[in-house]
Order: sequence, then C-alpha cells, then structure tokens
Amino acid sequence: MKEEAWDKIHIRNLEVFGKHGVYPEENRLGQKFEVDADLYISIREAGLKDDLTKSIHYGEVSHFMASFMTEHTFRLIEAAAEQMAEAVLLRFPAMERIRLEIRKPWAPIGLPLESVSVEIERGWHQAFVAIGSNLGERENYIQMGIEALKARKDCKVEQVSEIIATSPYGMTEQPDFLNGMIKLRTLLGPWELLKALQEIEQKAGRERLVHWGPRTLDLDIIFYDDRVIDAMELQIPHPDMQNREFVLKPLAELAPYLRHPLFHKTAGQMLKEIEKT
Ligand code: ATP
Ligand code: CA
Ligand code: CA
Repeated sequence: MKEEAWDKIHIRNLEVFGKHGVYPEENRLGQKFEVDADLYISIREAGLKDDLTKSIHYGEVSHFMASFMTEHTFRLIEAAAEQMAEAVLLRFPAMERIRLEIRKPWAPIGLPLESVSVEIERGWHQAFVAIGSNLGERENYIQMGIEALKARKDCKVEQVSEIIATSPYGMTEQPDFLNGMIKLRTLLGPWELLKALQEIEQKAGRERLVHWGPRTLDLDIIFYDDRVIDAMELQIPHPDMQNREFVLKPLAELAPYLRHPLFHKTAGQMLKEIEKT
C-alpha cells in the first residue's frame, strides 16, 4: 500500500480561464491562468499491472481543476490554490499530496513581467487523538466526539480503539474515565487540528475548571505524523503519553509498531514498560 508513496504525476501548463483577481475588470472580463500540479500517489501497482484503476486519471484531475478554476471566483490566486488543493484531495482520495502552482501570465501590475504565481503543497496527515470523558453521559460524549470528527470533510476517522474504563490520573478524587484512541487522516495542520478538537470539546459542554479535573470530553493530540512541536499551547508528541496506560493501551491496539519520534520506542514497547512498573 505505502510502497513508493512519493511517486508523482506531473501536469504542466494547464491553461484555464478564470475571473480571479482583486480588480473589478478581472472579475468581469476574466483572463488566462496556468496550472502546474504534481500529484503524489503510489504508482507502483498501476505501473506493474498497467492498470489505470490503480492510479489517478490525470485527464480527470485536469478537467476537475479546469472546471474548478472557471466555476469559482477568488480575489487571490492564493485562495484559488488553497481551495483547489483541498477540493482535489477530497475528490481523489488515493492522492496523498498535491503540489500546486497557479500562474497569472497577464497579471495587471503595469510593468512587463512574464508571470506571477503561487505555489503550495498540501496533503493528508496521520494523527492519533486520545479521547476521554469522566463526567455525565460518558459514552454519549465519547460518541459525540467521534461523530463530530467524522462530520468534518477534512478529517477521516480511520479507526477507533476499544473504549476502556480507567481510574483517574493526577487528581484521583473524581469519577472513572472512559478512554480511547482515534486514528485520523486529516488535511488540517497540527494547530488547526488543536482548534478543531477544542471546538468539539466546547460543544460537548466542557468547562475548563481545574487542570486534570473532571470533564465531559477531552481530546488530546498524541501524534501528528512524526512531527515534534514544543510550543506553550501545543506539544506533540503529547509530553506525558509514555507514562499513561490509558493512552498507550488503546494506541498499541491500533498501532503497536508506531514509533515515538523522540524516544524511538514503539507504542507496544512503551506499554510493556509501564505495565512492568
Ligand atoms: P494533559 O494534557 O496533561 O492530558 P489536560 O488534557 O487535562 O492535561 P487541558 O485542560 O485539556 O489539559 O488542556 C490544556 C492545554 O493543553 C490546552 O489549552 C492546549 O493548548 C494544551 N495542549 C498542549 N499540547 C496539547 C496536545 N498535544 N493536545 C491537546 N492539547 C494540548
Ligand atoms: Ca488529557
Ligand atoms: Ca486536553
């Protein structure tokens, strides 16, 4: 499945007509745009079997992009690129990433120039999100959290672990927790994902009263690809995951061989180590 995941299909100089621009004439008259795209997808199987169904039809992608550029009107080519990248990734799920360049050969700046362009690269990421609840209708809150993620088109819930009951951690004078792990494929960046999770917590009626205190719903990012982030508001991998059985158990159920990017230990190994102590 993941073999040669960085193969690419190149589309060059796709000419499309669009009405994007900040000037009213641009929106009225329209102009020519050029699109370059690199589609990241594993081509190995299609190549070995000479089978198009194992690849992505570049004709379809080209037509999709041309229609998208014509049917929508953006002021900025930045916006055109951003939204088109997302639309293409959603429409062709086998595509892992896309690099997209949109050029404006006739940019009206009153100076001779060959072209102006923006280039972006967007794609799917893998995140593991721990879910927990120890207040009220705990099962319902957990379900609500999972459903809220499923409802987002930029998030695909790929797997959910068994939901386990655990005694509270840190502040122990509170009801038992239900805990689980979600394997997520997402177009969101880590900060955007954090914000999305916090919005879902809010909707579940979570009030931030005391740290480690009872809560209707808690959603923590455990891993995001193999990224390491050390900011005040966001630490990835979650800095205490290696000490928490209620995180490691469901994680090891979904991904026993997933390796911590800093400790270089797998979820299974980390679980074994704390079960010993
Ligand atoms: P813990 O993170 O130790 O499990 P908690 O989940 O009880 O504690 P919260 O009150 O839910 O803590 O969150 C406190 C802050 O943690 C959030 O406002 C958020 O900015 C920050 N935070 C840092 N790293 C992460 C992460 N990986 N996932 C979610 N929140 C994080
Ligand atoms: Ca937590
Ligand atoms: Ca949290």
